[in-house]
Amino acid sequence: MTAMPTVRYAPSPTGRLHLGNARPALINWLFAKANAGRYVLRLDDTDTARSTEAFARAIEEDLSWLGVIPDFKVRQSDRTALYDTARDKLIAAGRLYPAYETEEELDSKRARARLLGRPPIYDRAALNLTPEQIAKYDAEGRKPHWRFRLDGRPVQFDDLIKGPQTVNTASMSDPVLIRADGSYLYTLPSVVDDIDLGITHVIRGEDHVSNTGTQIEIFEALGGKVPTFAHHNLLTGAEGEGLSKRIGSLSLGELHEAGYEPMAVAIEAVLTGTSLPLEPHANLDELAGVFSLSAVSHGSARFDPAELASLNTRILHQMPYETARPRLEPLGLASEPLWLALRGNLSVFGDIVDLATLVRGPVTPVIAAEDHDYLAAARDLLPAEPWDETTWSKWTDALKAATGRKGRALFHPLRLALTGREQGPELKSLLPLLGRTESLVRLS
Ligand code: GLU
Repeated sequence: MTAMPTVRYAPSPTGRLHLGNARPALINWLFAKANAGRYVLRLDDTDTARSTEAFARAIEEDLSWLGVIPDFKVRQSDRTALYDTARDKLIAAGRLYPAYETEEELDSKRARARLLGRPPIYDRAALNLTPEQIAKYDAEGRKPHWRFRLDGRPVQFDDLIKGPQTVNTASMSDPVLIRADGSYLYTLPSVVDDIDLGITHVIRGEDHVSNTGTQIEIFEALGGKVPTFAHHNLLTGAEGEGLSKRIGSLSLGELHEAGYEPMAVAIEAVLTGTSLPLEPHANLDELAGVFSLSAVSHGSARFDPAELASLNTRILHQMPYETARPRLEPLGLASEPLWLALRGNLSVFGDIVDLATLVRGPVTPVIAAEDHDYLAAARDLLPAEPWDETTWSKWTDALKAATGRKGRALFHPLRLALTGREQGPELKSLLPLLGRTESLVRLS
């Protein structure tokens, strides 16, 4: 029996999520949807100095705004006992060893290696410490940090996005898994959790490819099943620079505040840097139907703010009334003809409130002195009701014949009188919403 596909998204609650973080969050989600799998939210909060409860809450809010509702949630700070068990197992197996070097000692070792033209790899001096030296350090009150003894071999894996990969752990320093204060760095808890939670697919940014070599060795040392890996390209700015957690304007919270549709943000976050076109999809289920890991490109994934804005308006301009209705109701604007007449002019959904005043008032008509006679003719020629989308052209055709006006001179005074604005929604849709009585008032 094969295990149920299980993925995890593992942010650290040390800041607000930004567009770049939405990429692995959503790619994991779409993978879980497409494969009838489970989605775990794992909060990597072992860095207690920088992790906060407020950030943890904000992460869940931002994910749920995007439509990502994890099947279950864990936090690493609740799971220390599991990591302690793994630690003891690795120590017993001779794979985890104490090292006493201070930062300064390590720095000077690295400097010496550079001088000799050698790679600055940790020399494993700690493996040769005598019991007397260890006793002396202990007496001095020096606390060890703990390093994982790498096999030092080409570790191979088949990446679902990048294809066959080899990470040679011989060219890496034995990684520190536990700090001198006893706290865990990211690497060991991540592997222990992936084993414990039955993670079948680890989908994350390509900045983790080299970690994967180390982690596969740890999976094997702990006797765990090595998951399948997929490393995606990272979203960057126009110049290829990283989208840091600190770019406030691209935090999901601020994109939300600015009125972006979550689907526009989701599509931008997922489809940038893939072979798939950036075009509207109604919801994440539909996106899951078109997305696949094999569509993720091996090149860069550059974010263009103009694309996000354009996606947002395209989504609004084609949004069906049934989708908009629950959001129109609390605004008192739940009317299908109103929505259909106005949606084509929205930049963000909230613009509907202002646009609706064009229909429901108050509107201050703008009438230039030289247009008084023209508007008198316009009132006279206003067709009898019932009105529909053809009323506008019947009316303006008649006006054209009667006055000889055409183009802007024909249309613009009508727009200014009927809406009080230079620009706006198509008048052929607005007119039937206004009705004859209100139109006459505004034309006067
Ligand atoms: N907390 C890690 C990060 O945000 C998780 C990486 C992983 O998915 O293993 O980079």
